[in-house]
Amino acid sequence: MIKIFILFVVAYVLYRSLKTWMFPASSSSRSVSGKTTTEIDDVMIKDPFCETYFPKRNGVHLKFGGKDLYFCCDQCKDKYLADRSAKKE
Ligand SMILES: [Zn+2]
Repeated sequence: MIKIFILFVVAYVLYRSLKTWMFPASSSSRSVSGKTTTEIDDVMIKDPFCETYFPKRNGVHLKFGGKDLYFCCDQCKDKYLADRSAKKE
């Protein structure tokens, strides 16, 4: 049982580090030490599709109708767009 738990933890850590490598923009501030950033990068915003709250920097950005929208994932963005185009017709 403990073995399975350790495997799960290792998989989770690997997943997290993979995510960091895939989105290196969030780690760019690491090189600028001593400089305080005025911008809050972990502000929580609401997904307009599934109404889940998530950190803005993890969101999927979409410019829609002149507005900046953020979604928790690509699927929500796609579903939101599909939903909107369906309502127009
Ligand atoms: Zn969502």
